[in-house]
Amino acid sequence: MLVLSSVGIGNMNLECNGKAEDGLGGMDEERLTYFRKRLRELKLDILKDIDANLEDSGVVELDSSIGRLSRMDALQNQQMALELKRRLENQLLRIENAFKRMDKGQYGQCAKCKKSINEERLEVFPETLKCVRCA
Ligand SMILES: [Zn+2]
Repeated sequence: MLVLSSVGIGNMNLECNGKAEDGLGGMDEERLTYFRKRLRELKLDILKDIDANLEDSGVVELDSSIGRLSRMDALQNQQMALELKRRLENQLLRIENAFKRMDKGQYGQCAKCKKSINEERLEVFPETLKCVRCA
């Protein structure tokens, strides 16, 4: 299951009303299309990563034919794979939220302080929901 941790999704419903009245979060159509495309690509990448990662996060068989050390290695790899999976799933969740915010015309607007998120930041993390100060 997806874990709703530090992403701040619990607040999302409260944020839905203020539809960029102040124009702070307004982003023109062209930029929006660009970021939508970026997010789609990012989402595909993540889905691919999750797929590739699934093999590693499978149950480690405690087969006696592998030595104790390699079994520990395998368990460690599994832990890392699970951790990665959690991260990827969280990122996927943020991407879905970014799509929702686009539909509401709130994309690029900080979910917390409502100010515009720096576009350089969006460039690096198109799925980000908060500005640098609030993140
Ligand atoms: Zn902010």
